[in-house]
Amino acid sequence: MIPIKTQSELDAMRRVNQMTARVRDALADAVKPGVTTLDLGNLAQKMIREMGATNAFYGYHGFPGQVCISINEEVVHGIPGRRIIRDGDLVSIDTGVSFGGFIGDTAITAVAGKIDAEQQRLLEVTKAALAAGIAQAVEGNRVGDISYAIQTLVEKAGFSVVRDFVGHGIGRELHEDPQIPNFGKPRRGPKLKAGMTLSIEPMVNMGGKKIQVLADKWTVITKDGSLSAHFEHTIAVTKGSPEILTLTP
Ligand code: MG
Repeated sequence: MIPIKTQSELDAMRRVNQMTARVRDALADAVKPGVTTLDLGNLAQKMIREMGATNAFYGYHGFPGQVCISINEEVVHGIPGRRIIRDGDLVSIDTGVSFGGFIGDTAITAVAGKIDAEQQRLLEVTKAALAAGIAQAVEGNRVGDISYAIQTLVEKAGFSVVRDFVGHGIGRELHEDPQIPNFGKPRRGPKLKAGMTLSIEPMVNMGGKKIQVLADKWTVITKDGSLSAHFEHTIAVTKGSPEILTLTP
């Protein structure tokens, strides 16, 4: 069963996702050469505490970080630590906040210093894929319509989508039904209804789609060492256009 949120639950989802977007934006602004990934983790923790909220990622299935920071060939689930961000790094930030019994989830790939045209294209394509997926998240469509829109856009650009990690329903739990793969066929999968809240999150590799997990058991990297980008919004399905809950407040 895919949870349908009531009006008051949707209000709670709006609130927590706006808080999450604020953390995401502050961390993205803080990305600069010389900053450590732990600096970003600490900033997230401080903001979340000051909001009177709790961190939805810390301790989730044992995740040891305050936020996921994944650099360059790292796809997702990087753990903040002593690593120093350098000029030209792509820094993916994924943050989750819990407040009022509901959870917010959003991600962005930020840039440290100067990047080249191909890195810029990777970011633009990933953002466009997220927008294309969101545009399909309307009542009456199916999950496969979101998946297909993302995959086609990415592959047309010559990049690949990660298969091993997917978007998801979200609400009282970080991961609810349905799963939202970034690949698939149109008109397949669960039907979308107004009141569903979904985290849509393409992970796009410049090279092949294969990934591997590092010895820390969390950090996911591209198998071929190519760069990867990740953008995520949490949205509410409505009878009309989807409502993006994690737009910049
Ligand atoms: Mg997510």
